[in-house]
Parts: sequence; structure tokens; C-alpha cells
Amino acid sequence: MENCIFCKIVAGEIPCYKIFENEKILAFLDINPAVPGHVLVIPKKHFTDIFEIDDQYLQELIVVAKRIAEKMKTNFDAGGVNLFQSNGENAEQTVFHFHLHLLPRKGNDRINFSELLVNAEKIDNMKLEEIKKILGE
Ligand code: AMP
Ligand code: ZN
Repeated sequence: MENCIFCKIVAGEIPCYKIFENEKILAFLDINPAVPGHVLVIPKKHFTDIFEIDDQYLQELIVVAKRIAEKMKTNFDAGGVNLFQSNGENAEQTVFHFHLHLLPRKGNDRINFSELLVNAEKIDNMKLEEIKKILGE
């Protein structure tokens, strides 16, 4: 896709620190790492987000991510690994080519994922039932 920075990386028009590549998937270091070793895993084909990505690509991509996460855990001195990804402006997506973030985590780093859950207790049971009806099978 024209003007997509990640498509340009796939095409070799913009350099990256490549971690993994096969026919469908590319993984490289994030240019603005939240922690050392912050990796992005992307489909080589342009899909904007989780709503667009082909299921087959997604399946292959998550297995690649798992392999890299394993390497982070065993070789990168990381006690843990976070995987996350954003879809849409309201979710703070900034590059509109699907990507999965992998963050190798050490106990004493400055990231605080649990802050995301800070409002969880304020939701009442009625609300949870309503949400279950909307999102459940
Ligand atoms: P998101 O906010 O989830 O859309 O994340 C986009 C990520 O892409 C950010 O973490 C950026 O630092 C990263 N990024 C943007 N441009 C590049 C680039 N040229 N090479 C590597 N990572 C990039
Ligand atoms: Zn793209």
C-alpha cells in the first residue's frame, strides 16, 4: 500500500533491524522501543488491523511471535514477555498496517501494564451481564 511505512520496510525501501522473515511474515525491532528488545511482528501483505487481517496470516503470525517470545525469555534475560496490538485511532494505533508488539519484560523496568486494569472494579454486575450479551456467543 502506498505511503505505508511498514509496506516500505517490507519492500526494503526503508531499513529495519530484521529479526525474522519468511514468505508471509516479517519481524523487526521497533524504532522507538518501550524496552530494549521491543519487536514488531507484521504480515508482509498490507492489512490495516485485526478486522482486516486474513485468518491464515494471523495464525502464522502468532506462531512466529511465540518463537520470538521464547527466545526473549530464554536468551534475553527477560523474566516475562507482553504481547499487545492496537486497532483504530481510539485504541491509539499510529501505524495502520497490522502489527503485534512483543515486549521482553524485566521485573524492574518502567512499564506498568496493570494500570490498564485500574477501572475494572468499578463496573457493576448488571453492566457485565449487558456486555456478556453483546460479546458472548
Ligand atoms: P502503534 O502505536 O501500536 O501503531 O505502534 C506503532 C509502532 O511502530 C511504534 O511503536 C513505533 O515506534 C513503530 N515504528 C514506527 N515507524 C517505525 C520504523 N520505521 N521502524 C520501526 N518501528 C517503527
Ligand atoms: Zn502496509
